[in-house]
Amino acid sequence: MSIPSIRIQPYCLELPVWITDYLAQQPETYPTPDARMDLVITLAQLNIQYGTGGPFGAGVFRLDTQELVAPGVNLVLSSKSSMAHAEIVAMLMAQQIVGSHNLGAIGFPTHELVTSCEPCSMCLGGISWSGVRHIVCGARGSDAEAVGFDEGPKPANWIVELEQRGIAVTMDIRRTSASSVLQQYVQNGGEVYNGRKG
Ligand SMILES: [Zn+2]
Repeated sequence: MSIPSIRIQPYCLELPVWITDYLAQQPETYPTPDARMDLVITLAQLNIQYGTGGPFGAGVFRLDTQELVAPGVNLVLSSKSSMAHAEIVAMLMAQQIVGSHNLGAIGFPTHELVTSCEPCSMCLGGISWSGVRHIVCGARGSDAEAVGFDEGPKPANWIVELEQRGIAVTMDIRRTSASSVLQQYVQNGGEVYNGRKG
């Protein structure tokens, strides 16, 4: 058996160019969970509008200065990677920006992940290792599943599991707006990839 030699060197995820332009017009700080959620929901909407990915947005924020550290949008289709979910993209970017694999390292401010939709099973694992200390979710996993996405095998008590690891969870911030982005994506014929359906 021969395996083709594939160099992943380094595997490169690139944010769509519109994000830089959009963020340049935005405020320096996001003082409330609602303000942070509004930003990531808008990123999800713009990701659909520009045709750069699925209907999910996220961001890592530092809570002391209330600034955005790194945005994330879903890049699964454009990057040809099932792992390029918005939360993973935001955490990967944030870790590169702060220069550590651990966003909770000693001396760092508290980092919060804000996501337009409750994390799937993969992102839940990524969150556990990332060092973020808060997560804030918009739509529920059931809202994503209602339009055909798969949330994967997650423990029913995942919120308790995260909180036992020192990661606080806030649910349902702007849930209606966040869910409507999912519905809009599907109504406009957006591709719903789903590991169970292939
Ligand atoms: Zn995910």
